[in-house]
Formats: sequence, structure tokens, C-alpha cells
Amino acid sequence: MSVVFIGAGPGAADLITVRGARRLAQADVVLHDALIDPALREHAPHARWVDVGKRGFCDSTGQARINALLVRLAQQDLRVVRLKGGDPSVFGRLEEELEALARAGIECEVVPGITAALAAAAATQRPLTRRGAGRSVALTTAMTKDSELRAAHSADTEVFYMAGRQLGALARRLQHAGWASDTPVLVVSRAGFADEIATDHRVATLAEAALLHSGRPTVVTVGVGACAIAMRAKGVSRAGTKMPGTQPLPASQ
Ligand code: SAH
Repeated sequence: MSVVFIGAGPGAADLITVRGARRLAQADVVLHDALIDPALREHAPHARWVDVGKRGFCDSTGQARINALLVRLAQQDLRVVRLKGGDPSVFGRLEEELEALARAGIECEVVPGITAALAAAAATQRPLTRRGAGRSVALTTAMTKDSELRAAHSADTEVFYMAGRQLGALARRLQHAGWASDTPVLVVSRAGFADEIATDHRVATLAEAALLHSGRPTVVTVGVGACAIAMRAKGVSRAGTKMPGTQPLPASQ
């Protein structure tokens, strides 16, 4: 009787870890989030796949239903995998599911995954830490539990999750939190997917990103880690820009 939590990574199916793919292949039933790449099903074609990111699980009682389902399936002696987008330990409500399983005496294992902030940094070749200038990174949710927008300045590089719908408001909150208006901001949506978009802004002009990334899962990197790396050779073109007047970004795939 056990449940394996697996981080699926941020998008493309091949960003899951080797261990994650192995554990997935052993599953009888897979409870997965909405943003999971359908190609991951190939790892466990005979398992029952249940989309718990869908309606019926998203409302305020949805989490309790997921917890109960995990417990019930594990008690039926099925090999249960809980497949989460990115990394299970980052804004994945993992603590609630672990607690529910612990209360029922069910053992768990957590297999890490690539969180969206890391996928965005890799895709755009913007290291989150920089020797000398960028010594700390914060992963921050812009939304509080009560759906209030908050911003902070707690690290040299701050990556905001769950702010995609309110980039204009985030810009104002960032300035209140002490970020200078010309601080570089990198906005990446659907990081790790073939149709990923990455655009460059400043804190003062962040609102202009709203339309470009509308309706897509988005991370917002603010500070040192948002800066482009100096290009070595002259005339190297960097295709993939989605905005006139902003720094072009390399396409990830
Ligand atoms: N556990 C996930 C985060 C879940 S919270 C992880 O580690 O990545 C959901 C938020 O994650 C979204 O609102 C968005 O801010 C971010 N996100 C998830 N997938 C993303 C992607 N492919 N590209 C950009 N942001 C993403």
C-alpha cells in the first residue's frame, strides 16, 4: 500500500526524470494534473488515467476529493501514482495529500521534477544565479490563499508563479515592494512546450506582457536572473522574439 508522487516536469514529456518514468511505468492508476503532456501516457498505457485537474476536482472541495481518492485507491492495493506538473514540492499542495495519506497510514515516495522556474531559465538561457550579483533565488506565488495579489523583494532573483492573469497589478506591487522600475523582468509562458513564449520587459512596463501570454501558464522572473547573457559574436541572430522592441530570445526547441 503506497503512493508515488512524481514530478512530470513543466511540459514536454521527455523532461520527466528517468526515475519518474520508471515509477510511472509500474502504475495501475495515475491521478494527474491538467497540464500534463498526453505523451506521458506512453509510459503507462495500461494504467487507468484520471484527470483530477478537471471540473469536479477544481472547486473548493476538489482537494478533499483528491485526498480521499488517493487513500481509497491505495487501500485497494493498487499501485497509485500521483503525477503533478513541474515539481510536486513547489506550489503543488503536496503537503495536504501527504498528510491525508499519513493519517491513513499509507506510505509515500516523492520523485522530484523540473519546476517551471527552472524550465524557463533553461529555455531562455538565463541562469537564476550569477556569480557575484545573484546569490539568492526565491520561488514566490503571487496569489495568496485568499486570491489576493502579493509581491515581495526577498531575493536577488524572484520567480513569481500564478501571476499570469494580473501582470499589470503585479508591476505595481513590485514597485511598492521596492523593485526599481527599470529592473529586468522575463515572462515565460508554457515553458518547456513547443509553443513556449518568452518576452523581456522592465518592472514599469510589465503590463504590456499581459496580452502576449494571456490564458497560458506563466512564470515571471524578476531581477538578476532575468538579464540576458552578453552575446559574444557580433551579428549572431537570436530568433524567437515575440515582441518588437524587446530583447529577442532563443527558441527552446
Ligand atoms: N508544481 C508546479 C507549479 C504548479 S502551480 C511546478 O513546479 O512548476 C501552477 C503555476 O505554475 C502556474 O500558474 C504557472 O505560474 C506555473 N507554471 C506551471 N507550468 C508552467 C509552464 N509550463 N510554463 C510557465 N509557467 C508554468
